[in-house]
Amino acid sequence: MTLDSKIPSGPIEDRWDNHRFAMKLVNPANKRKFDVIMVGSGLAGASAAASMAELGYNVQCFCYQDTARRAHSIAAQGGINAAKNYQNDGDSIYRLFYDTVKGGDFRSREANVYRLAQVSLEIIDQAVAQGVPFAREYSGLLDNRSFGGAQVSRTFYARGQTGQQLLLGAYQALARQVKKGKVQMYPRHEMLDVVLVDGEAKGIITRDLNTGKIERWAADAVVLGTGGYSRVFYLSTNAMGCNVTAAWRAHKRGAYFANPCYTQIHPTAIPQAGEHQSKLTLMSESLRNDGRIWVPKSQGDDRPAIQIPEDERDYYLERRYPAFGNLVPRDIASRAAKQMVDKGHGVGPTKVGVYLDFADAIGRLGKKVIEERYGNLFEMYEKITGEDPYEVPMRIYPAPHYTMGGLWVDYELQSTVPGLFVIGEANFSDHGANRLGASALMQGLADGYFVLPYTIGNYLAPRMGQKVDTDHPAFAEVEQEVNDRVGKLLSIQGERTVDSIHRELGTLMWEKCGMARTAEGLKEALEEIPRLREEFWTNVRVLGDGEEINESLEKAGRLADFLELAELMCRDALDREESCGGHFREEHQTEEGEALRRDDEFTYVAAWEHKGVGREPVLHKEDLEFEYVKPSQRSYK
Ligand SMILES: Cc1cc2nc3c(=O)[nH]c(=O)nc-3n(C[C@H](O)[C@H](O)[C@H](O)COP(=O)(O)OP(=O)(O)OC[C@H]3O[C@@H](n4cnc5c(N)ncnc54)[C@H](O)[C@@H]3O)c2cc1C
Repeated sequence: MTLDSKIPSGPIEDRWDNHRFAMKLVNPANKRKFDVIMVGSGLAGASAAASMAELGYNVQCFCYQDTARRAHSIAAQGGINAAKNYQNDGDSIYRLFYDTVKGGDFRSREANVYRLAQVSLEIIDQAVAQGVPFAREYSGLLDNRSFGGAQVSRTFYARGQTGQQLLLGAYQALARQVKKGKVQMYPRHEMLDVVLVDGEAKGIITRDLNTGKIERWAADAVVLGTGGYSRVFYLSTNAMGCNVTAAWRAHKRGAYFANPCYTQIHPTAIPQAGEHQSKLTLMSESLRNDGRIWVPKSQGDDRPAIQIPEDERDYYLERRYPAFGNLVPRDIASRAAKQMVDKGHGVGPTKVGVYLDFADAIGRLGKKVIEERYGNLFEMYEKITGEDPYEVPMRIYPAPHYTMGGLWVDYELQSTVPGLFVIGEANFSDHGANRLGASALMQGLADGYFVLPYTIGNYLAPRMGQKVDTDHPAFAEVEQEVNDRVGKLLSIQGERTVDSIHRELGTLMWEKCGMARTAEGLKEALEEIPRLREEFWTNVRVLGDGEEINESLEKAGRLADFLELAELMCRDALDREESCGGHFREEHQTEEGEALRRDDEFTYVAAWEHKGVGREPVLHKEDLEFEYVKPSQRSYK
């Protein structure tokens, strides 16, 4: 299959407008004749479900939490970008577009990114109209702060709870449609497969997580907004339920997986404290507005931070990147922290950490201002570590956080399976090889409020009256496969817990496919993963049965998919013989240890086609063209 990305031609600023005009419309009276399945009710899913229902479509919305409000989006702390230029500091749509293409290390589609920057303005208006309580200045205008990879302040925020507040806004819009009967909400339902009829997505199979019931659902189109897959590393900043199941099952049914190796390691998480930890906690990037990152100049310095004099500290980001300082993009900040720790400058009990210090900011602005800006984050830090960050510097270290890879989608957010659309973190779309901070919320809401509701009509319009229902044999077939799989998981009754195998996979992925990768390490991982998968399918012990709440079964199903995805990630990382953004191949670096791209050979999106578990997937390449932001060696000096 040739990949048709449907990127419109013409001047970049007109492309989205022209494309919207060229797309087919479903007239208002006909919209109510179409049913759409929305899997996911995070920021992407909730905004899409609400907007499609507002337009008139009938939406069935699924999530595995007990309410849409608990989607992982609620965890987002720092903010959301938009090119409003409220600070009058030189921002513009073009600058946000430029920063995002450059920040993604020239591995994203220009047309998508430009549209994202355009739509960012509308997102803020939409959220404000919904009553999202963004921080305001004394004058009443919305306030902004800075995030990495930008020299302007364009990040809108609601203290350290931006995701929660935006999700409440989207949830209200969703709840309104639930009340009107336009959205049927199905919480605690996990999608375990997608059903294709004549090659097009026409439904899903779910498992009711309370009763174990396996059910069929049919619709005219299916949308996935099921989030990212950082939990493949076991330890990550993601909620423990985050998984790749929906996307992976769709991949196995024909949806190509794009750039699976592009994962974001966030520079500022609380360092791991012990062996049995199951999650890492993020300290928002917004803290780098006022916090200064440093390590002791001498290796192995054991003195408490407070006793290390100023001239014996290395503020290494400010030293190496004077123009951006502590606000360099995440991939750069993470790698620099790793380099410091590898060279023996790490701090804290495990020596795997660096300092994030607020002493200067508190001295300059006063404790009250810092408390107003970051109070809840400081409190969270103190609760977890027992240390008061107003008195001593925070200790931080990079952690898996976000996945830029995901299901391949065209400009209309449609995957390679017709009728299957993918939005939010689950698709690969706009961030290239490195996402800038505060741009995930922007993309999820752009997709959900302002892109998908238009593009899905282009698919549906010519399909009036072509309904299938769940009696179609394709549903029975897929349902049987789902049942068999659940039965198989329950029947193994081996000796290892799901978590112990997941932890082993996570350690392997972190060591071989984490912040730094080598051909040798990736080849080792590619030998190890099938062995671990075999261990899982012969020796895992899933407790309980299938007809009740069974977390062990839920986790096992998700881990089974991670064990397949991990192999594809390593294969993709091995295949991409260059460094770009978050994908750092040690063999390809500049003399100063920065990522060295090989544009002549790798300026493409790698879209993988599944050919069976344990069999070589097929690589399809979507060439990327840069007409506006010419690729150069990224510099933040
Ligand atoms: C700690 C933290 C802080 C962050 N802070 C920021 C920030 O400040 N700014 C920013 O821009 N980004 C931030 N991010 C990233 C951002 O929060 C996420 O990328 C974004 O919220 C993802 O939204 P989503 O709607 O795509 O997915 P999610 O919010 O993860 O929602 C996924 C939905 O899919 C459902 N689902 C998944 N699988 C299935 C299945 N098989 N069956 C049924 N339902 C399923 C879930 O129930 C859920 O409803 C942060 C991330 C983390 C981890």
